[in-house]
Amino acid sequence: MIILGSGPAALTAAVYTTRGNMETLVIAGAQYGGQLMLTTDVENYPGFPQGIQGPELMDLMIKQAERFDAEFIYDDATSVDFKSRPFTVSVGEDEYQARAVVIATGASAKWLGLESEERLRGRGVSSCATCDGHFFKDMDVLVVGGGDAAMEEALFLSRLCKSVRVVHRRDELRASKIMQKRALDNPKIDFIWDSIVVEILGEEKVRGARIRNVKTGEESELECEGVFIAIGHTPNTKFLEGQIELDKKGYVKVEDSTKTNVEGVFVGGDVHDYRYRQAVTAAAFGCMAAMDAEKWLEGQA
Ligand code: NAP
Repeated sequence: MIILGSGPAALTAAVYTTRGNMETLVIAGAQYGGQLMLTTDVENYPGFPQGIQGPELMDLMIKQAERFDAEFIYDDATSVDFKSRPFTVSVGEDEYQARAVVIATGASAKWLGLESEERLRGRGVSSCATCDGHFFKDMDVLVVGGGDAAMEEALFLSRLCKSVRVVHRRDELRASKIMQKRALDNPKIDFIWDSIVVEILGEEKVRGARIRNVKTGEESELECEGVFIAIGHTPNTKFLEGQIELDKKGYVKVEDSTKTNVEGVFVGGDVHDYRYRQAVTAAAFGCMAAMDAEKWLEGQA
């Protein structure tokens, strides 16, 4: 069994496959641990009543998979061959073979690419309101983006925060009409049109943002304690192109539960699920993919 990825989906899959007595290789990626490595406090993962730091949670998950003898390679899978069996996964020059594969390479949140954004990530800059909104109760926050995700984040935050301002680079939203209406009708949500964030302000934590009106070039500073970046995600599937069916945004297409269009290749987590995107749902998908893989392998024996 080869498991691709090292976020909650991949590591949960590894716990299940190893405990199911399958020889398991986890190709964890050069930057292991997934999106939780970019977070600080995680308060919504069951079993940690006081919360836990994202990287610490991932280290615990790795230890748990290692305990059952999962092997790890901390490098990126560069290509796969799902057309012949056993399947082959290449990591640069090295090739590994498996009878079954679980794809759990996740998705990466898109970021604006500002130095201040990177520095303050997990310190007021977030890409997930469901995960981090709670830390901004009765505070002022910004949401960047104009798609469905940005509207959803803004609506979620409007229930918790003192004020929510959506900064969008155009004067028209990309979000579906129904989501637009909900956000535009919400008295707690204001819109700042034709504007981009050029710097997030604050040393240890966010205290505001400098924005620029792209039509007038005028810059201004907004005070806020949180900045939620909701400008989309990119599924980590580039290396799978041509080998497995992907949808038009690059997410792995699911046929039935965790099955892909290639028999023996299963999928779990944010690499196919752009709806829930939670550590706990990813873990659950990883478990499902491992169980489906185990059942499928049994049928092959
Ligand atoms: P999206 O639809 O691609 O929207 C991304 C938004 O971010 C766009 O408004 C875009 O601006 C803006 N943006 C992109 N790059 C930017 C940058 N560098 N600086 C500033 N703004 C930037 O992504 P999404 O909202 O994450 O949604 C992804 C998919 O999931 C969509 O198909 C969506 O319908 C679906 N989804 C649905 C729901 C729901 O129905 N409840 C919830 C979440 C997601 P422009 O508009 O100018 O391009």
